[in-house]
Amino acid sequence: MELNENARIDTSQVEDRRGSGGGGGGIPIPIPAGGGGRGGLVGIIIAVLVALVGGGFGLNAMSGDGGEAGDNTALEQKCAADDALQQLDCRNTLYVNSIQAYWQRALPEAFGERYTPSKTIFFSQGVSTGCGQADSGVGPFYCPADDQVYIDLTFYRVLADQLGAEGEFAQPYVLAHEYGHHVQDLLGTEAQMRRQQQRDPGDANALSVKLELQADCYAGAWAKNATGTADAQGQRIFTSISEQDISQAIDTAEKIGDDAIQQRSGRPVNPDEFTHGTSEQRKEWFTRGYQTGDPKSCDTFGSGS
Ligand SMILES: [Zn+2]
Repeated sequence: MELNENARIDTSQVEDRRGSGGGGGGIPIPIPAGGGGRGGLVGIIIAVLVALVGGGFGLNAMSGDGGEAGDNTALEQKCAADDALQQLDCRNTLYVNSIQAYWQRALPEAFGERYTPSKTIFFSQGVSTGCGQADSGVGPFYCPADDQVYIDLTFYRVLADQLGAEGEFAQPYVLAHEYGHHVQDLLGTEAQMRRQQQRDPGDANALSVKLELQADCYAGAWAKNATGTADAQGQRIFTSISEQDISQAIDTAEKIGDDAIQQRSGRPVNPDEFTHGTSEQRKEWFTRGYQTGDPKSCDTFGSGS
């Protein structure tokens, strides 16, 4: 994967709420109670399981208050500098730019709907959102109540160290998955699915799996079209994406499959508890989106699969 050095990084699409430290590095992700030994590790893995969920998990929806305001000044300067692409936060901002540039064009084309941009909030440790208070342990997520993506960038280390999902391309995959939830929100798919869950609680997990797999498929559709995305001046954002990058995304999708995570945490594999889909399903739907490059092919609800 190669990013274009000349692409302008649009930091207005993100909000930096990491505080004055701003580095985002070196802050340990809190280990759940009983942590330290294997229990702690398992706790993190289970938290990561919830990670790519995008709403619907244990956040207390208490206030509609979006919480503290961010300060992008430091990030703006950093991402305008010559070595910006060496910086994790600037690269992630550029990934967000590419994903949203894709949907600006693809949403009207595929579904006849206008795309409304959504910000990604960089936070460290904890953050207050329209879906309630969240801490880093829950991993990246999309909050439909305030239409924003939230990520503590140290999550990528957890992904690499604890789950073995390495490689840079895991990062845009994670973000593209979360923006997939934003698209579902814009299309009303998410709301429809929540209503269906209320009508039929026994089917709630199966419905959640369909929503998650569709977000994976949308991520694949973006990946296929990512080299065609450009900044506001028309400069391409990616100069190349290789087969290896795609394999990394598929590998990440597999590593975070429900069965894989249950196995890693030492629990028996129980399909009734699946909320995201198996490794095989996640791989399959990302691949479908990638191969077709068409979000219309991501009909996880209609295909009965
Ligand atoms: Zn998700």
